[in-house]
Amino acid sequence: MSELILSGVGKRFGKTVALADVSLQIQSGEFICLLGSSGCGKTTLLRIIAGLEQCDHGELHLDGVALSKLASHKRNIGMVFQSLALFPHLNVSRNISYGLKMRGVSAETTNARVAELLELTGLDGFENRSVVSLSGGQKQRVAIARALALEPQLFLMDEPFSALDAGLRDHLQQEVKKLQRQLAVTTIFVTHDQSEAMSLADRIVILNNGNIEQAGTPKEVYQRPLTRFVAEFIGSNNLLDVDIDENSVMYKNHYLGSPQGSVENLRGRQTLVVRPEAMKLHARHDASQVLHGTVTMQRTVGALVECDIDVDGQVIKHTALQNSDTEVSIGDSVTLSCDWTEQWCLPGE
Ligand code: ATP
Repeated sequence: MSELILSGVGKRFGKTVALADVSLQIQSGEFICLLGSSGCGKTTLLRIIAGLEQCDHGELHLDGVALSKLASHKRNIGMVFQSLALFPHLNVSRNISYGLKMRGVSAETTNARVAELLELTGLDGFENRSVVSLSGGQKQRVAIARALALEPQLFLMDEPFSALDAGLRDHLQQEVKKLQRQLAVTTIFVTHDQSEAMSLADRIVILNNGNIEQAGTPKEVYQRPLTRFVAEFIGSNNLLDVDIDENSVMYKNHYLGSPQGSVENLRGRQTLVVRPEAMKLHARHDASQVLHGTVTMQRTVGALVECDIDVDGQVIKHTALQNSDTEVSIGDSVTLSCDWTEQWCLPGE
């Protein structure tokens, strides 16, 4: 169990700013997902934490110890790379025990630890198998067991499942989550896949251009995005730019009502963040509803029906259960409503 504190960490490669100024406190036992699109600095941050890269400025403290004073091999950090980097000439047991051997741990302790990890990772019976003969999922498990062998203070994973098919990825995600809970090891997991981050993380840290846009629980970043970037990046959201004065909330030329609820004290240009499932569809004749549009897309995804509705040139997304009362087809004229006074609001641009 270990706490990691990053203070003002920055890194450039020539003219490229990989990390601008990253500060973050990671609690002992937390499962953090670093999430962001390609090139936002996720791997660079992980490599700096592991000591594989030096930062240009900033400080990192693991349980109060400045990491800058410790070489990579002196940091008690376990890491799983996307490429896994298993030793192909060693069998499963020897891959797992490699670090323990290097540290001069006794044969007895090593054997006990390897047996424990084989069981924890579901590799019982595979100890003498050559790693090259294993399936993709089994190799992942060996890499995870090897990284955990030295009981690391920090467990780092860099897109470990991105090359696997969806079914196996889901399965391993759940295994890793369970293992992390059991061992209570502070974990940082890099991914560009928001659903992976949503299902694994205690907190998601969203990076954009080398900066943290938001750090919060999956629910917080979905329901309470702090920036437009996060609102657009996480899940599917409708961003309605509204103009608010003392008397009215206007969306384009539509009067939504007087300022109440979440927007009561807001004025000027603001952005309402409305999730597709918060939108309701009504038949055209319902005069009390204010947003009128035309259905431009409809598709069924499992139990849900998703629609795009063109309202004055802006696509509004709507999602409802398949058995909902209102069934529409492409080309239908519809009206939309939502309880906008309950929705989250961002400062407008
Ligand atoms: P991806 O999801 O594609 O792996 P990432 O978020 O992990 O991306 P990084 O690998 O951290 O991003 O890279 C951040 C930026 O720094 C990118 O613009 C990248 O090209 C640059 N960069 C990273 N490592 C180096 C390097 N060794 N030399 C030069 N530029 C680098």
